[in-house]
Parts: sequence; structure tokens; C-alpha cells
Amino acid sequence: MVLLKQRSCPECSGEMTPKLINMLYKKECSEIQVDVIGIPANVCNRCYYRIIPGKIAKYIDSIIDPIFTAEMNSKESLLPPPHIGIQFPFNNNYACYHSNEIRVQ
Ligand SMILES: [Zn+2]
Repeated sequence: MVLLKQRSCPECSGEMTPKLINMLYKKECSEIQVDVIGIPANVCNRCYYRIIPGKIAKYIDSIIDPIFTAEMNSKESLLPPPHIGIQFPFNNNYACYHSNEIRVQ
């Protein structure tokens, strides 16, 4: 279980709010774009700096890294690099909003 706690922004010391965010993952060595929707993160109210908990970031990397690897290892360009969408559905069993925190199991 990962707990997003109220904390202040490391960039501007502004207040941060736990939110579900969307991220576009790209790599320099690949044309593939992966849109990941519904990631729990702390977001700064002032400068929009975002912090994704390490465990969650690692889990997302473990899902999308093989996609990039498969594309980089393909020797023929059969199709243009795909745009991929991954959506984590909002589920009360996994993410609970309290006043200032999100709990993720
Ligand atoms: Zn900030």
C-alpha cells in the first residue's frame, strides 16, 4: 500500500494536493508514445510540479518498458510507431480519497 501524504513542493514550497494525473511517456530512441491515465500523484497547487510515488513509477515503467523494447528491436518498419493508451480505472478498493491523501493498495 502506498500512501500519498500532504507535503510541500520541493520546487517552490507550495502546497501539494493528491490527484490522479495523466502522463505521456516518450523515449528519445523511439517514436512510440504511451498515454497513461489515472496515476496517483502529488501535484503542486502553485507550479504544477508532480511527484509520482516511486513504487507506482516503477510499476508503470515495468508495464511500458517492454513496449519500447519490442519496437526498438523490430528490424522492419511494418507500421508507423503506435500511440498507446493505458488507463487505470478509478476503483474504491484501490484508491481512497480522504481529506488530504490518497491510499493505494
Ligand atoms: Zn511548486
